Amino acid sequence: MIRVEVNALSKQAAGKFHTHHEETPQGFVDAVSHASEERGLRLTPLRKEVLELVAAAGKPVKAYDLLDQLRERHGNAAPPTVYRALDFLLEQGFIHKLESVNAFVSCHHPAEAHQVPFLICDVCSSAQEVCDERVAALIESQAESFGFRPQAQTLEVHGVCRNCRKD
Ligand SMILES: [Zn+2]
Ligand SMILES: [Zn+2]
Repeated sequence: MIRVEVNALSKQAAGKFHTHHEETPQGFVDAVSHASEERGLRLTPLRKEVLELVAAAGKPVKAYDLLDQLRERHGNAAPPTVYRALDFLLEQGFIHKLESVNAFVSCHHPAEAHQVPFLICDVCSSAQEVCDERVAALIESQAESFGFRPQAQTLEVHGVCRNCRKD
């Protein structure tokens, strides 16, 4: 049974608890279920299904691809509902949105709200979280020195992943 740290929303905790690294889609969905329960949130069937689809994709997936898959299964998944489910999952930090490719990817440690840079492969479209909170902390402290109050960080590095490199 996977236990997840739920009080890890606090900033200084976020950098240190990287022990619950969910590798399989099922492990990920289980971890999110636990986190939701402990936060008193309702993981509705649709939210759960959207989550499963994002996890199963294994790489960033676009909202309209999710919509297509849901339509195949149900025929009646209305777009606003899917977007609301995605919003919920984003707000809770269970998934990330990659702005530069306008796609969603499951978070490797869904029990922690965090902002991390992503490495995005332009060949196979895979995305890798950079699990190091120092980057976010550095940007935060730089912003502070400019008297700037950050609300969201998006740091996406494009390139070619290890599997796709030919050199
Ligand atoms: Zn993450
Ligand atoms: Zn690649």
